[in-house]
Amino acid sequence: MKILKNAGGFEVLTPFKNLKRQLLDIEKAGRTCYQSEKKEITEGSAKKFVQMLMKRGHYSVLEHSNMTVKFKNISRGFTHEQVRHRLTAISQESTRYVDYAKKGKGPDLMKFQLKCVVPPHRNEGENVELENGRKLSLKEMFTEIEDFYRALRKAGWAPEDARQILPIGIKAEIVISANFREWRHIFKMRTSKFAHWEIRKVMGDLLVKTQRLIPGVFDDFVQTGVDQNGLRYFAPLPHNP
Ligand SMILES: Cc1cc2nc3c(=O)[nH]c(=O)nc-3n(C[C@H](O)[C@H](O)[C@H](O)COP(=O)(O)OP(=O)(O)OC[C@H]3O[C@@H](n4cnc5c(N)ncnc54)[C@H](O)[C@@H]3O)c2cc1C
Repeated sequence: MKILKNAGGFEVLTPFKNLKRQLLDIEKAGRTCYQSEKKEITEGSAKKFVQMLMKRGHYSVLEHSNMTVKFKNISRGFTHEQVRHRLTAISQESTRYVDYAKKGKGPDLMKFQLKCVVPPHRNEGENVELENGRKLSLKEMFTEIEDFYRALRKAGWAPEDARQILPIGIKAEIVISANFREWRHIFKMRTSKFAHWEIRKVMGDLLVKTQRLIPGVFDDFVQTGVDQNGLRYFAPLPHNP
C-alpha cells in the first residue's frame, strides 16, 4: 500500500502549438459573424478578440476548441466529481478491469499495489479509537483493505467483485477532453473556495498553467484567497459567467 500526499497532477495532452492555433481558429470563427475575416489574424489580435467576445457574453465562439488533459495520482473521489461535468469526453481507470492484487514484472513490480490519496493537512499515521476500543490509523486501515482485497482475489473473487471494498481515496487516472467554454465552467466550479481540497488544488494548478498557454481565454480568473490549510481558491472577475 502506498500513500499519495500532495501527489495529484496533470499532463496537458493537447500539444501547446495546437492550443495556440485554436485561439486563431476562434478569432476566424468569431470574425465570420462580423464579416471581418480579412483582417490580419495574429496571436496578439486573437487574444484581444477573445477578450472582446467574453466582455460581450459571446461565449459560444469559445466552443470552437478542445483541450485534453490527463489527471494522475488523484483519487476516485476526484474522478467522481469530475465526471459530473457532462459536456466532456471521459476515459477513466477501471476498478473492474484493473487487478489491484496483481504483481507486475521488472519496473512494473509495484504497479498494481493499492495506492491511496490522503488529505495533505492530516496525519495518516494518527491513531483514532474505534467504538470497540481498538486503535487504528488511516494508513493501517488502508493496509487492511489491501490485505482483504488480496484475500478475496486469492479466494477466487473477480476484480469486479473484490472492488466493492476499495476506498474512495484509491488512486485513479482520468483523461478529460472539453472545449474552452466548458473548461471555464469546470474551473469556476472546481477552483472556488467551496470545492473539495483535492480537486481544487489540481484544477487551480491547471488553471494557472492554461492562463499561460492560452492567453485571453482564462485571464479573468484571479486568486481570491487561501483557505485555513493554505490552499488557494479562484474566481472569474464579476462580468464573466
Ligand atoms: C462545491 C460543489 C458541491 C457539490 N455538491 C454536490 C452534491 O452534494 N450532490 C450532487 O449530486 N452534486 C454535487 N455537486 C455537483 C454539481 O451539482 C454539478 O453536477 C456539477 O458541478 C456539474 O455542474 P454543471 O451541471 O453545471 O456542469 P456541466 O455538466 O459541466 O454542464 C455545463 C453547463 O451546461 C449546461 N447544461 C449541461 N447539461 C444540461 C442540461 N441537461 N440541461 C440544461 N443545461 C445543461 C448548464 O448550463 C451547465 O452549467 C457539487 C459541485 C460543486 C462544485
